[in-house]
Amino acid sequence: MTHYRGSCLCGHVAFVVEGAYNNVTNCHCTTCQKVSGAPYVTWVEFPTAHITWIGAEPTWRTSSEKGERGFCPECGSTVTFRFLGSDATDLACVLFDDPSIFAPSDELYTDSRQDWAVLNERLTHFPKERAFKPKT
Ligand SMILES: [Zn+2]
Ligand SMILES: [Zn+2]
Repeated sequence: MTHYRGSCLCGHVAFVVEGAYNNVTNCHCTTCQKVSGAPYVTWVEFPTAHITWIGAEPTWRTSSEKGERGFCPECGSTVTFRFLGSDATDLACVLFDDPSIFAPSDELYTDSRQDWAVLNERLTHFPKERAFKPKT
């Protein structure tokens, strides 16, 4: 089974994930922008049960009526997103020791993209949420 490791900036929050991931997505929604301080966040989605916290767990905070997000209480790094009630959790791609493994396949919420944040023309674009759930 493949294992992927990662951590926040300070290392307080750290994780190992095993097995297959689902979607890798650039999300341009305004909540991702605010929570990260960046024009978009690249998320990698795993089954929540496959994530093991080997350092501290992130601190979770409800970010909208639909979702909650986790961050490092020590350094403030954006770590996770999940839809309320979902059995999947997104991890911020660049927290992995080797983020190059996780190439995005689509871009979401392009309606709220910053004009100067250039879309990758090789990826599938959705104005809001993904219109379908591709099987990988
Ligand atoms: Zn930290
Ligand atoms: Zn988002």
